[in-house]
Amino acid sequence: MRVSHLFTKTLKNAPADEVAKNAQLLIRAGFVYKEMAGVYAYLPLGLRVLENIKAIVREEMNAIDSNELIMTTLQRKEVWEKTTRWSDEVVDVWFKTRLKDDTELGLGWSHEEPIVEMMKQYIHSYRDLPVSLYQFQPKMRNELRAKSGIMRGREFIMKDMYSFHASKEDLDAYYEKVIEAYKRVYDRLGIGGDTYVTFASGGAFTKFSHEFQTICEAGEDVIYLHREKNIAINEEVLDDAVVELGITREELEPVKTAESGNIFNFGSQKTDEMGLYYTDAEGKQQSLYIGSYGIGITRAMGVIAEKMSDEKGLVWPKSIAPYHVYLVSIGDVDEEATKLYGELKAAGITVLFDDRDERPGAKFSDAELIGLPYRVTISRRLLDEGKLELTYRATGETEVLTPSEVLAKIAEM
Ligand code: ATP
Ligand code: MG
Repeated sequence: MRVSHLFTKTLKNAPADEVAKNAQLLIRAGFVYKEMAGVYAYLPLGLRVLENIKAIVREEMNAIDSNELIMTTLQRKEVWEKTTRWSDEVVDVWFKTRLKDDTELGLGWSHEEPIVEMMKQYIHSYRDLPVSLYQFQPKMRNELRAKSGIMRGREFIMKDMYSFHASKEDLDAYYEKVIEAYKRVYDRLGIGGDTYVTFASGGAFTKFSHEFQTICEAGEDVIYLHREKNIAINEEVLDDAVVELGITREELEPVKTAESGNIFNFGSQKTDEMGLYYTDAEGKQQSLYIGSYGIGITRAMGVIAEKMSDEKGLVWPKSIAPYHVYLVSIGDVDEEATKLYGELKAAGITVLFDDRDERPGAKFSDAELIGLPYRVTISRRLLDEGKLELTYRATGETEVLTPSEVLAKIAEM
């Protein structure tokens, strides 16, 4: 991609009403556009980051045999009335709308009820089980506050997955597999080391959940860390956990976190409520066990922008950066720069080529704000020595190397 073809421009300042660091940086660097509080458009650079995050999640969900689909935003009231959750008292984030004939509809904030309803058409016998389904889908939630930039959207992208099992044991085993898959996802996103799995809510013995909490100053949650024992405890179960683990509260350090993911083991409660059953090998009707597993895709992007940034701008991890290399040409080196651009691309390296007729300083500061892992600088002076400059965004370190050395260094990653 040539910067001259990119319609977005970097901005000196973020909009005055934007208080979240992640959105300030992402708006300034041209990754997102703020439509209104909690509602953001994803521009070409931002979309590439989202697609990279999705690709990682997709690989890991496919690896645990889940099937991708996409469900609808418009949802039927009757489906949600089968549980208690059409009620605005029970679910306080509903956006609702109406058809011309006055039929009430919901805009999907979750797909748990609709997917159980849908699966009545596809699950009949034990032979149809287990099955796992997932989607990347824009969720609508009328959140009371939306001050955390893309970390809390009123419209946001979630990866939601649902699994259906013939027995509690089979669900429990799959639930463990999902925990492992989620850990791989957060590792690959570059936030694995700061992401803790916490036990979230007890409730009925057959129904529980876990959260994936990522340490983040801008997060809205708090977890309690026992650094020595590497234990992380969720606020809502703190009192019970302290007793159970035989530790004191003083040993625990409260840290601010963002919930990057949340998984629920529903047992057979929801399927029983909604009347989804299967017949076993003897032809007897049996309860079905389900789990529900979410990852905030846009929230993950926000958390990464918050955590991986400095006073100059964003610092993307290689796994999700919109491009690998920011190529800067200085002075009259169009021909050589275009050739290098082609060579980098031919080597499978993705490149944002700053071909604009701009001062080097302006190009360098845009490179820093946009935050690609590598900057390659080509100028007449360097070319005369047969060299290029390779700068690492994360460390600011610069090396003067031959073109083939530059290629080799970047390809190493
Ligand atoms: P929170 O407590 O932050 O409101 P939640 O418990 O309502 O989250 P879930 O319904 O479990 O969230 O959704 C699954 C995942 O989707 C969450 O773990 C989070 O990463 C993401 N998510 C939830 N609400 C939002 C939102 N408003 N904007 C962006 N991501 C969100
Ligand atoms: Mg919520």
